[in-house]
Amino acid sequence: MKLNERGLLIVLSGPSGVGKGTVRKALFDLEGHDLVYSTSMTTRPRREGEVEGVDYYFVSREEFEQRIRDDAFLEWAEFVGHYYGTPRDKVDEQLKQGKEVVLEIEVQGALQVREKAKDGVFIFIAPPNREALYRRLLRRGTESGDTIQKRMDKAEREFPLAHKYDYIVVNDEVTNAADRVLAIIRAEHARTERAIHKYKELLGVDENE
Ligand code: 5GP
Repeated sequence: MKLNERGLLIVLSGPSGVGKGTVRKALFDLEGHDLVYSTSMTTRPRREGEVEGVDYYFVSREEFEQRIRDDAFLEWAEFVGHYYGTPRDKVDEQLKQGKEVVLEIEVQGALQVREKAKDGVFIFIAPPNREALYRRLLRRGTESGDTIQKRMDKAEREFPLAHKYDYIVVNDEVTNAADRVLAIIRAEHARTERAIHKYKELLGVDENE
């Protein structure tokens, strides 16, 4: 299949607590009808308010490990003691149908996808500064102090990996960040290799040349 017939794979990634989820939700509020969110699978216990099949598919470690053996994940990672992974089948199916699929995943997983999906768009969501990240993790109040420190330490190791992404978006304010992500998606659609087939008659272009 040619690049231009497949949907766009959009990977939102960055340290835990940076607000990837809120940016993603704001993005869907702006442009939801064209985007599909890939719900991840995890072994982390469900937090209050989280809905099975919407926020995550919550499974046991045994079930997750079986799926790893079955090669059922596009990517997976162990993050602060729990597994997280992107079920492969739905993503493939939706991209084949020409849909725009959004993954919201941590850094190790995003770099695995980068190796497999060269045509994906990789966006690193960064905090405006370290204090903002720490405050966000504290405010979220869903983790113990020890886990917050682990997540901060991990973030320090993840910051330098931003250079492996196509774009960096600072989450200073959620709607601004979502606007910038949307601008990136629109620009990616206008890239010659994605757009040219639509205009080949107008422009007299032979795609095979
Ligand atoms: P949380 O426990 O806060 O929901 O998620 C922890 C981290 O795992 C976040 O950075 C989140 O984006 C990431 N994450 C969620 N789903 C996936 C996934 O399917 N794969 C990977 N690699 N990371 C994920």
